[in-house]
Amino acid sequence: MTARIIDGKTLAVAVREEVAAGVAALVSAGAAVPELAVVLLGDDPASHVYVSNKVRQTEAAGMRSRRYLLDADTTERRLLELIEALNRDATVSGILVQFPLPPHIDTARVVTTIRPDKDVDGFNPLNVGRTAAGIEGALVPCTPLGVMRLIKSVHEDIAGLGALVVGASNVVGRPMARLLLQELCTVSIAHIRTTDLERRCSEADILVVATGVPGLIRGHFIRPGATVIDVGITRITSGSGAEKLVGDVAFDEAVKVAGAITPVPGGVGPMTIACLLANTLSAARMKAARSKAPDADPATAA
Ligand code: NAD
Repeated sequence: MTARIIDGKTLAVAVREEVAAGVAALVSAGAAVPELAVVLLGDDPASHVYVSNKVRQTEAAGMRSRRYLLDADTTERRLLELIEALNRDATVSGILVQFPLPPHIDTARVVTTIRPDKDVDGFNPLNVGRTAAGIEGALVPCTPLGVMRLIKSVHEDIAGLGALVVGASNVVGRPMARLLLQELCTVSIAHIRTTDLERRCSEADILVVATGVPGLIRGHFIRPGATVIDVGITRITSGSGAEKLVGDVAFDEAVKVAGAITPVPGGVGPMTIACLLANTLSAARMKAARSKAPDADPATAA
């Protein structure tokens, strides 16, 4: 058996086209062009590449973007003041602060400061709580949102399926588990202290892996026919000195056992940025709806 390869690049194109059509419809209905503000601290080359891609794709979907490139030693106070100014700025629909932040900045304080209805990364506790409670209208973190779209390209209905999420970070694992639960999967979460990972993986109809440990999930861990989503991305240098990106799943083994599997690269990665655009459009739509119902409380209208 050879698994179906889930093509994240093609699916991401479809999401970006949906977003572009949604932006055009919103603007022709009289709303302002959605605008994404991206804030980056420091010189990390990978973060600069991510930010450039986000800005380019935002603009390609018909939205505006602005970029704030700050020094790595920018104080927390200065960063929070910038976020508060963007919170108040009526032309900004979405705010994204690129992670990781330098160690002198309290990440939790940053995500709590971003207005929930502009929080296109979905990390503000109000959005986290709303997603956990299954309340509609929350902005959901982009990577898990993209993973749900990938899973739904394979399964029409996932209710009742057993899902294992390996990795329990706030960025991927935990919100992923909440979304799967929302769709009525029977969900387990594994993490660094989980015992008997192999057995737990072998029981999962849907296996989502986000650990950053290359090749952690071997082929024989996987239930035959399972859907395997590999979120992990690690840059490694091969014997010949060439750099390449690898996932957390031993792909060559897993592809012989799984029913469907995402490649790395070309699986989850492209969907993450596409879902950021979708979240920026969602935020702009909420803003447009609020301007029609001005009595709504903007601070809690995520
Ligand atoms: P993280 O370091 O914050 O969390 C890793 C999680 O994996 C932790 O919960 C930890 O307990 C668990 N873990 C670590 N080793 C393990 C092991 N041996 N067995 C079981 N669990 C283990 O990482 P993160 O931010 O969640 O990212 C995870 C991976 O996903 C990284 O490779 C990252 O680059 C990638 N990522 C990709 C995208 C994308 O768009 N494709 C987005 C976000 C993260």
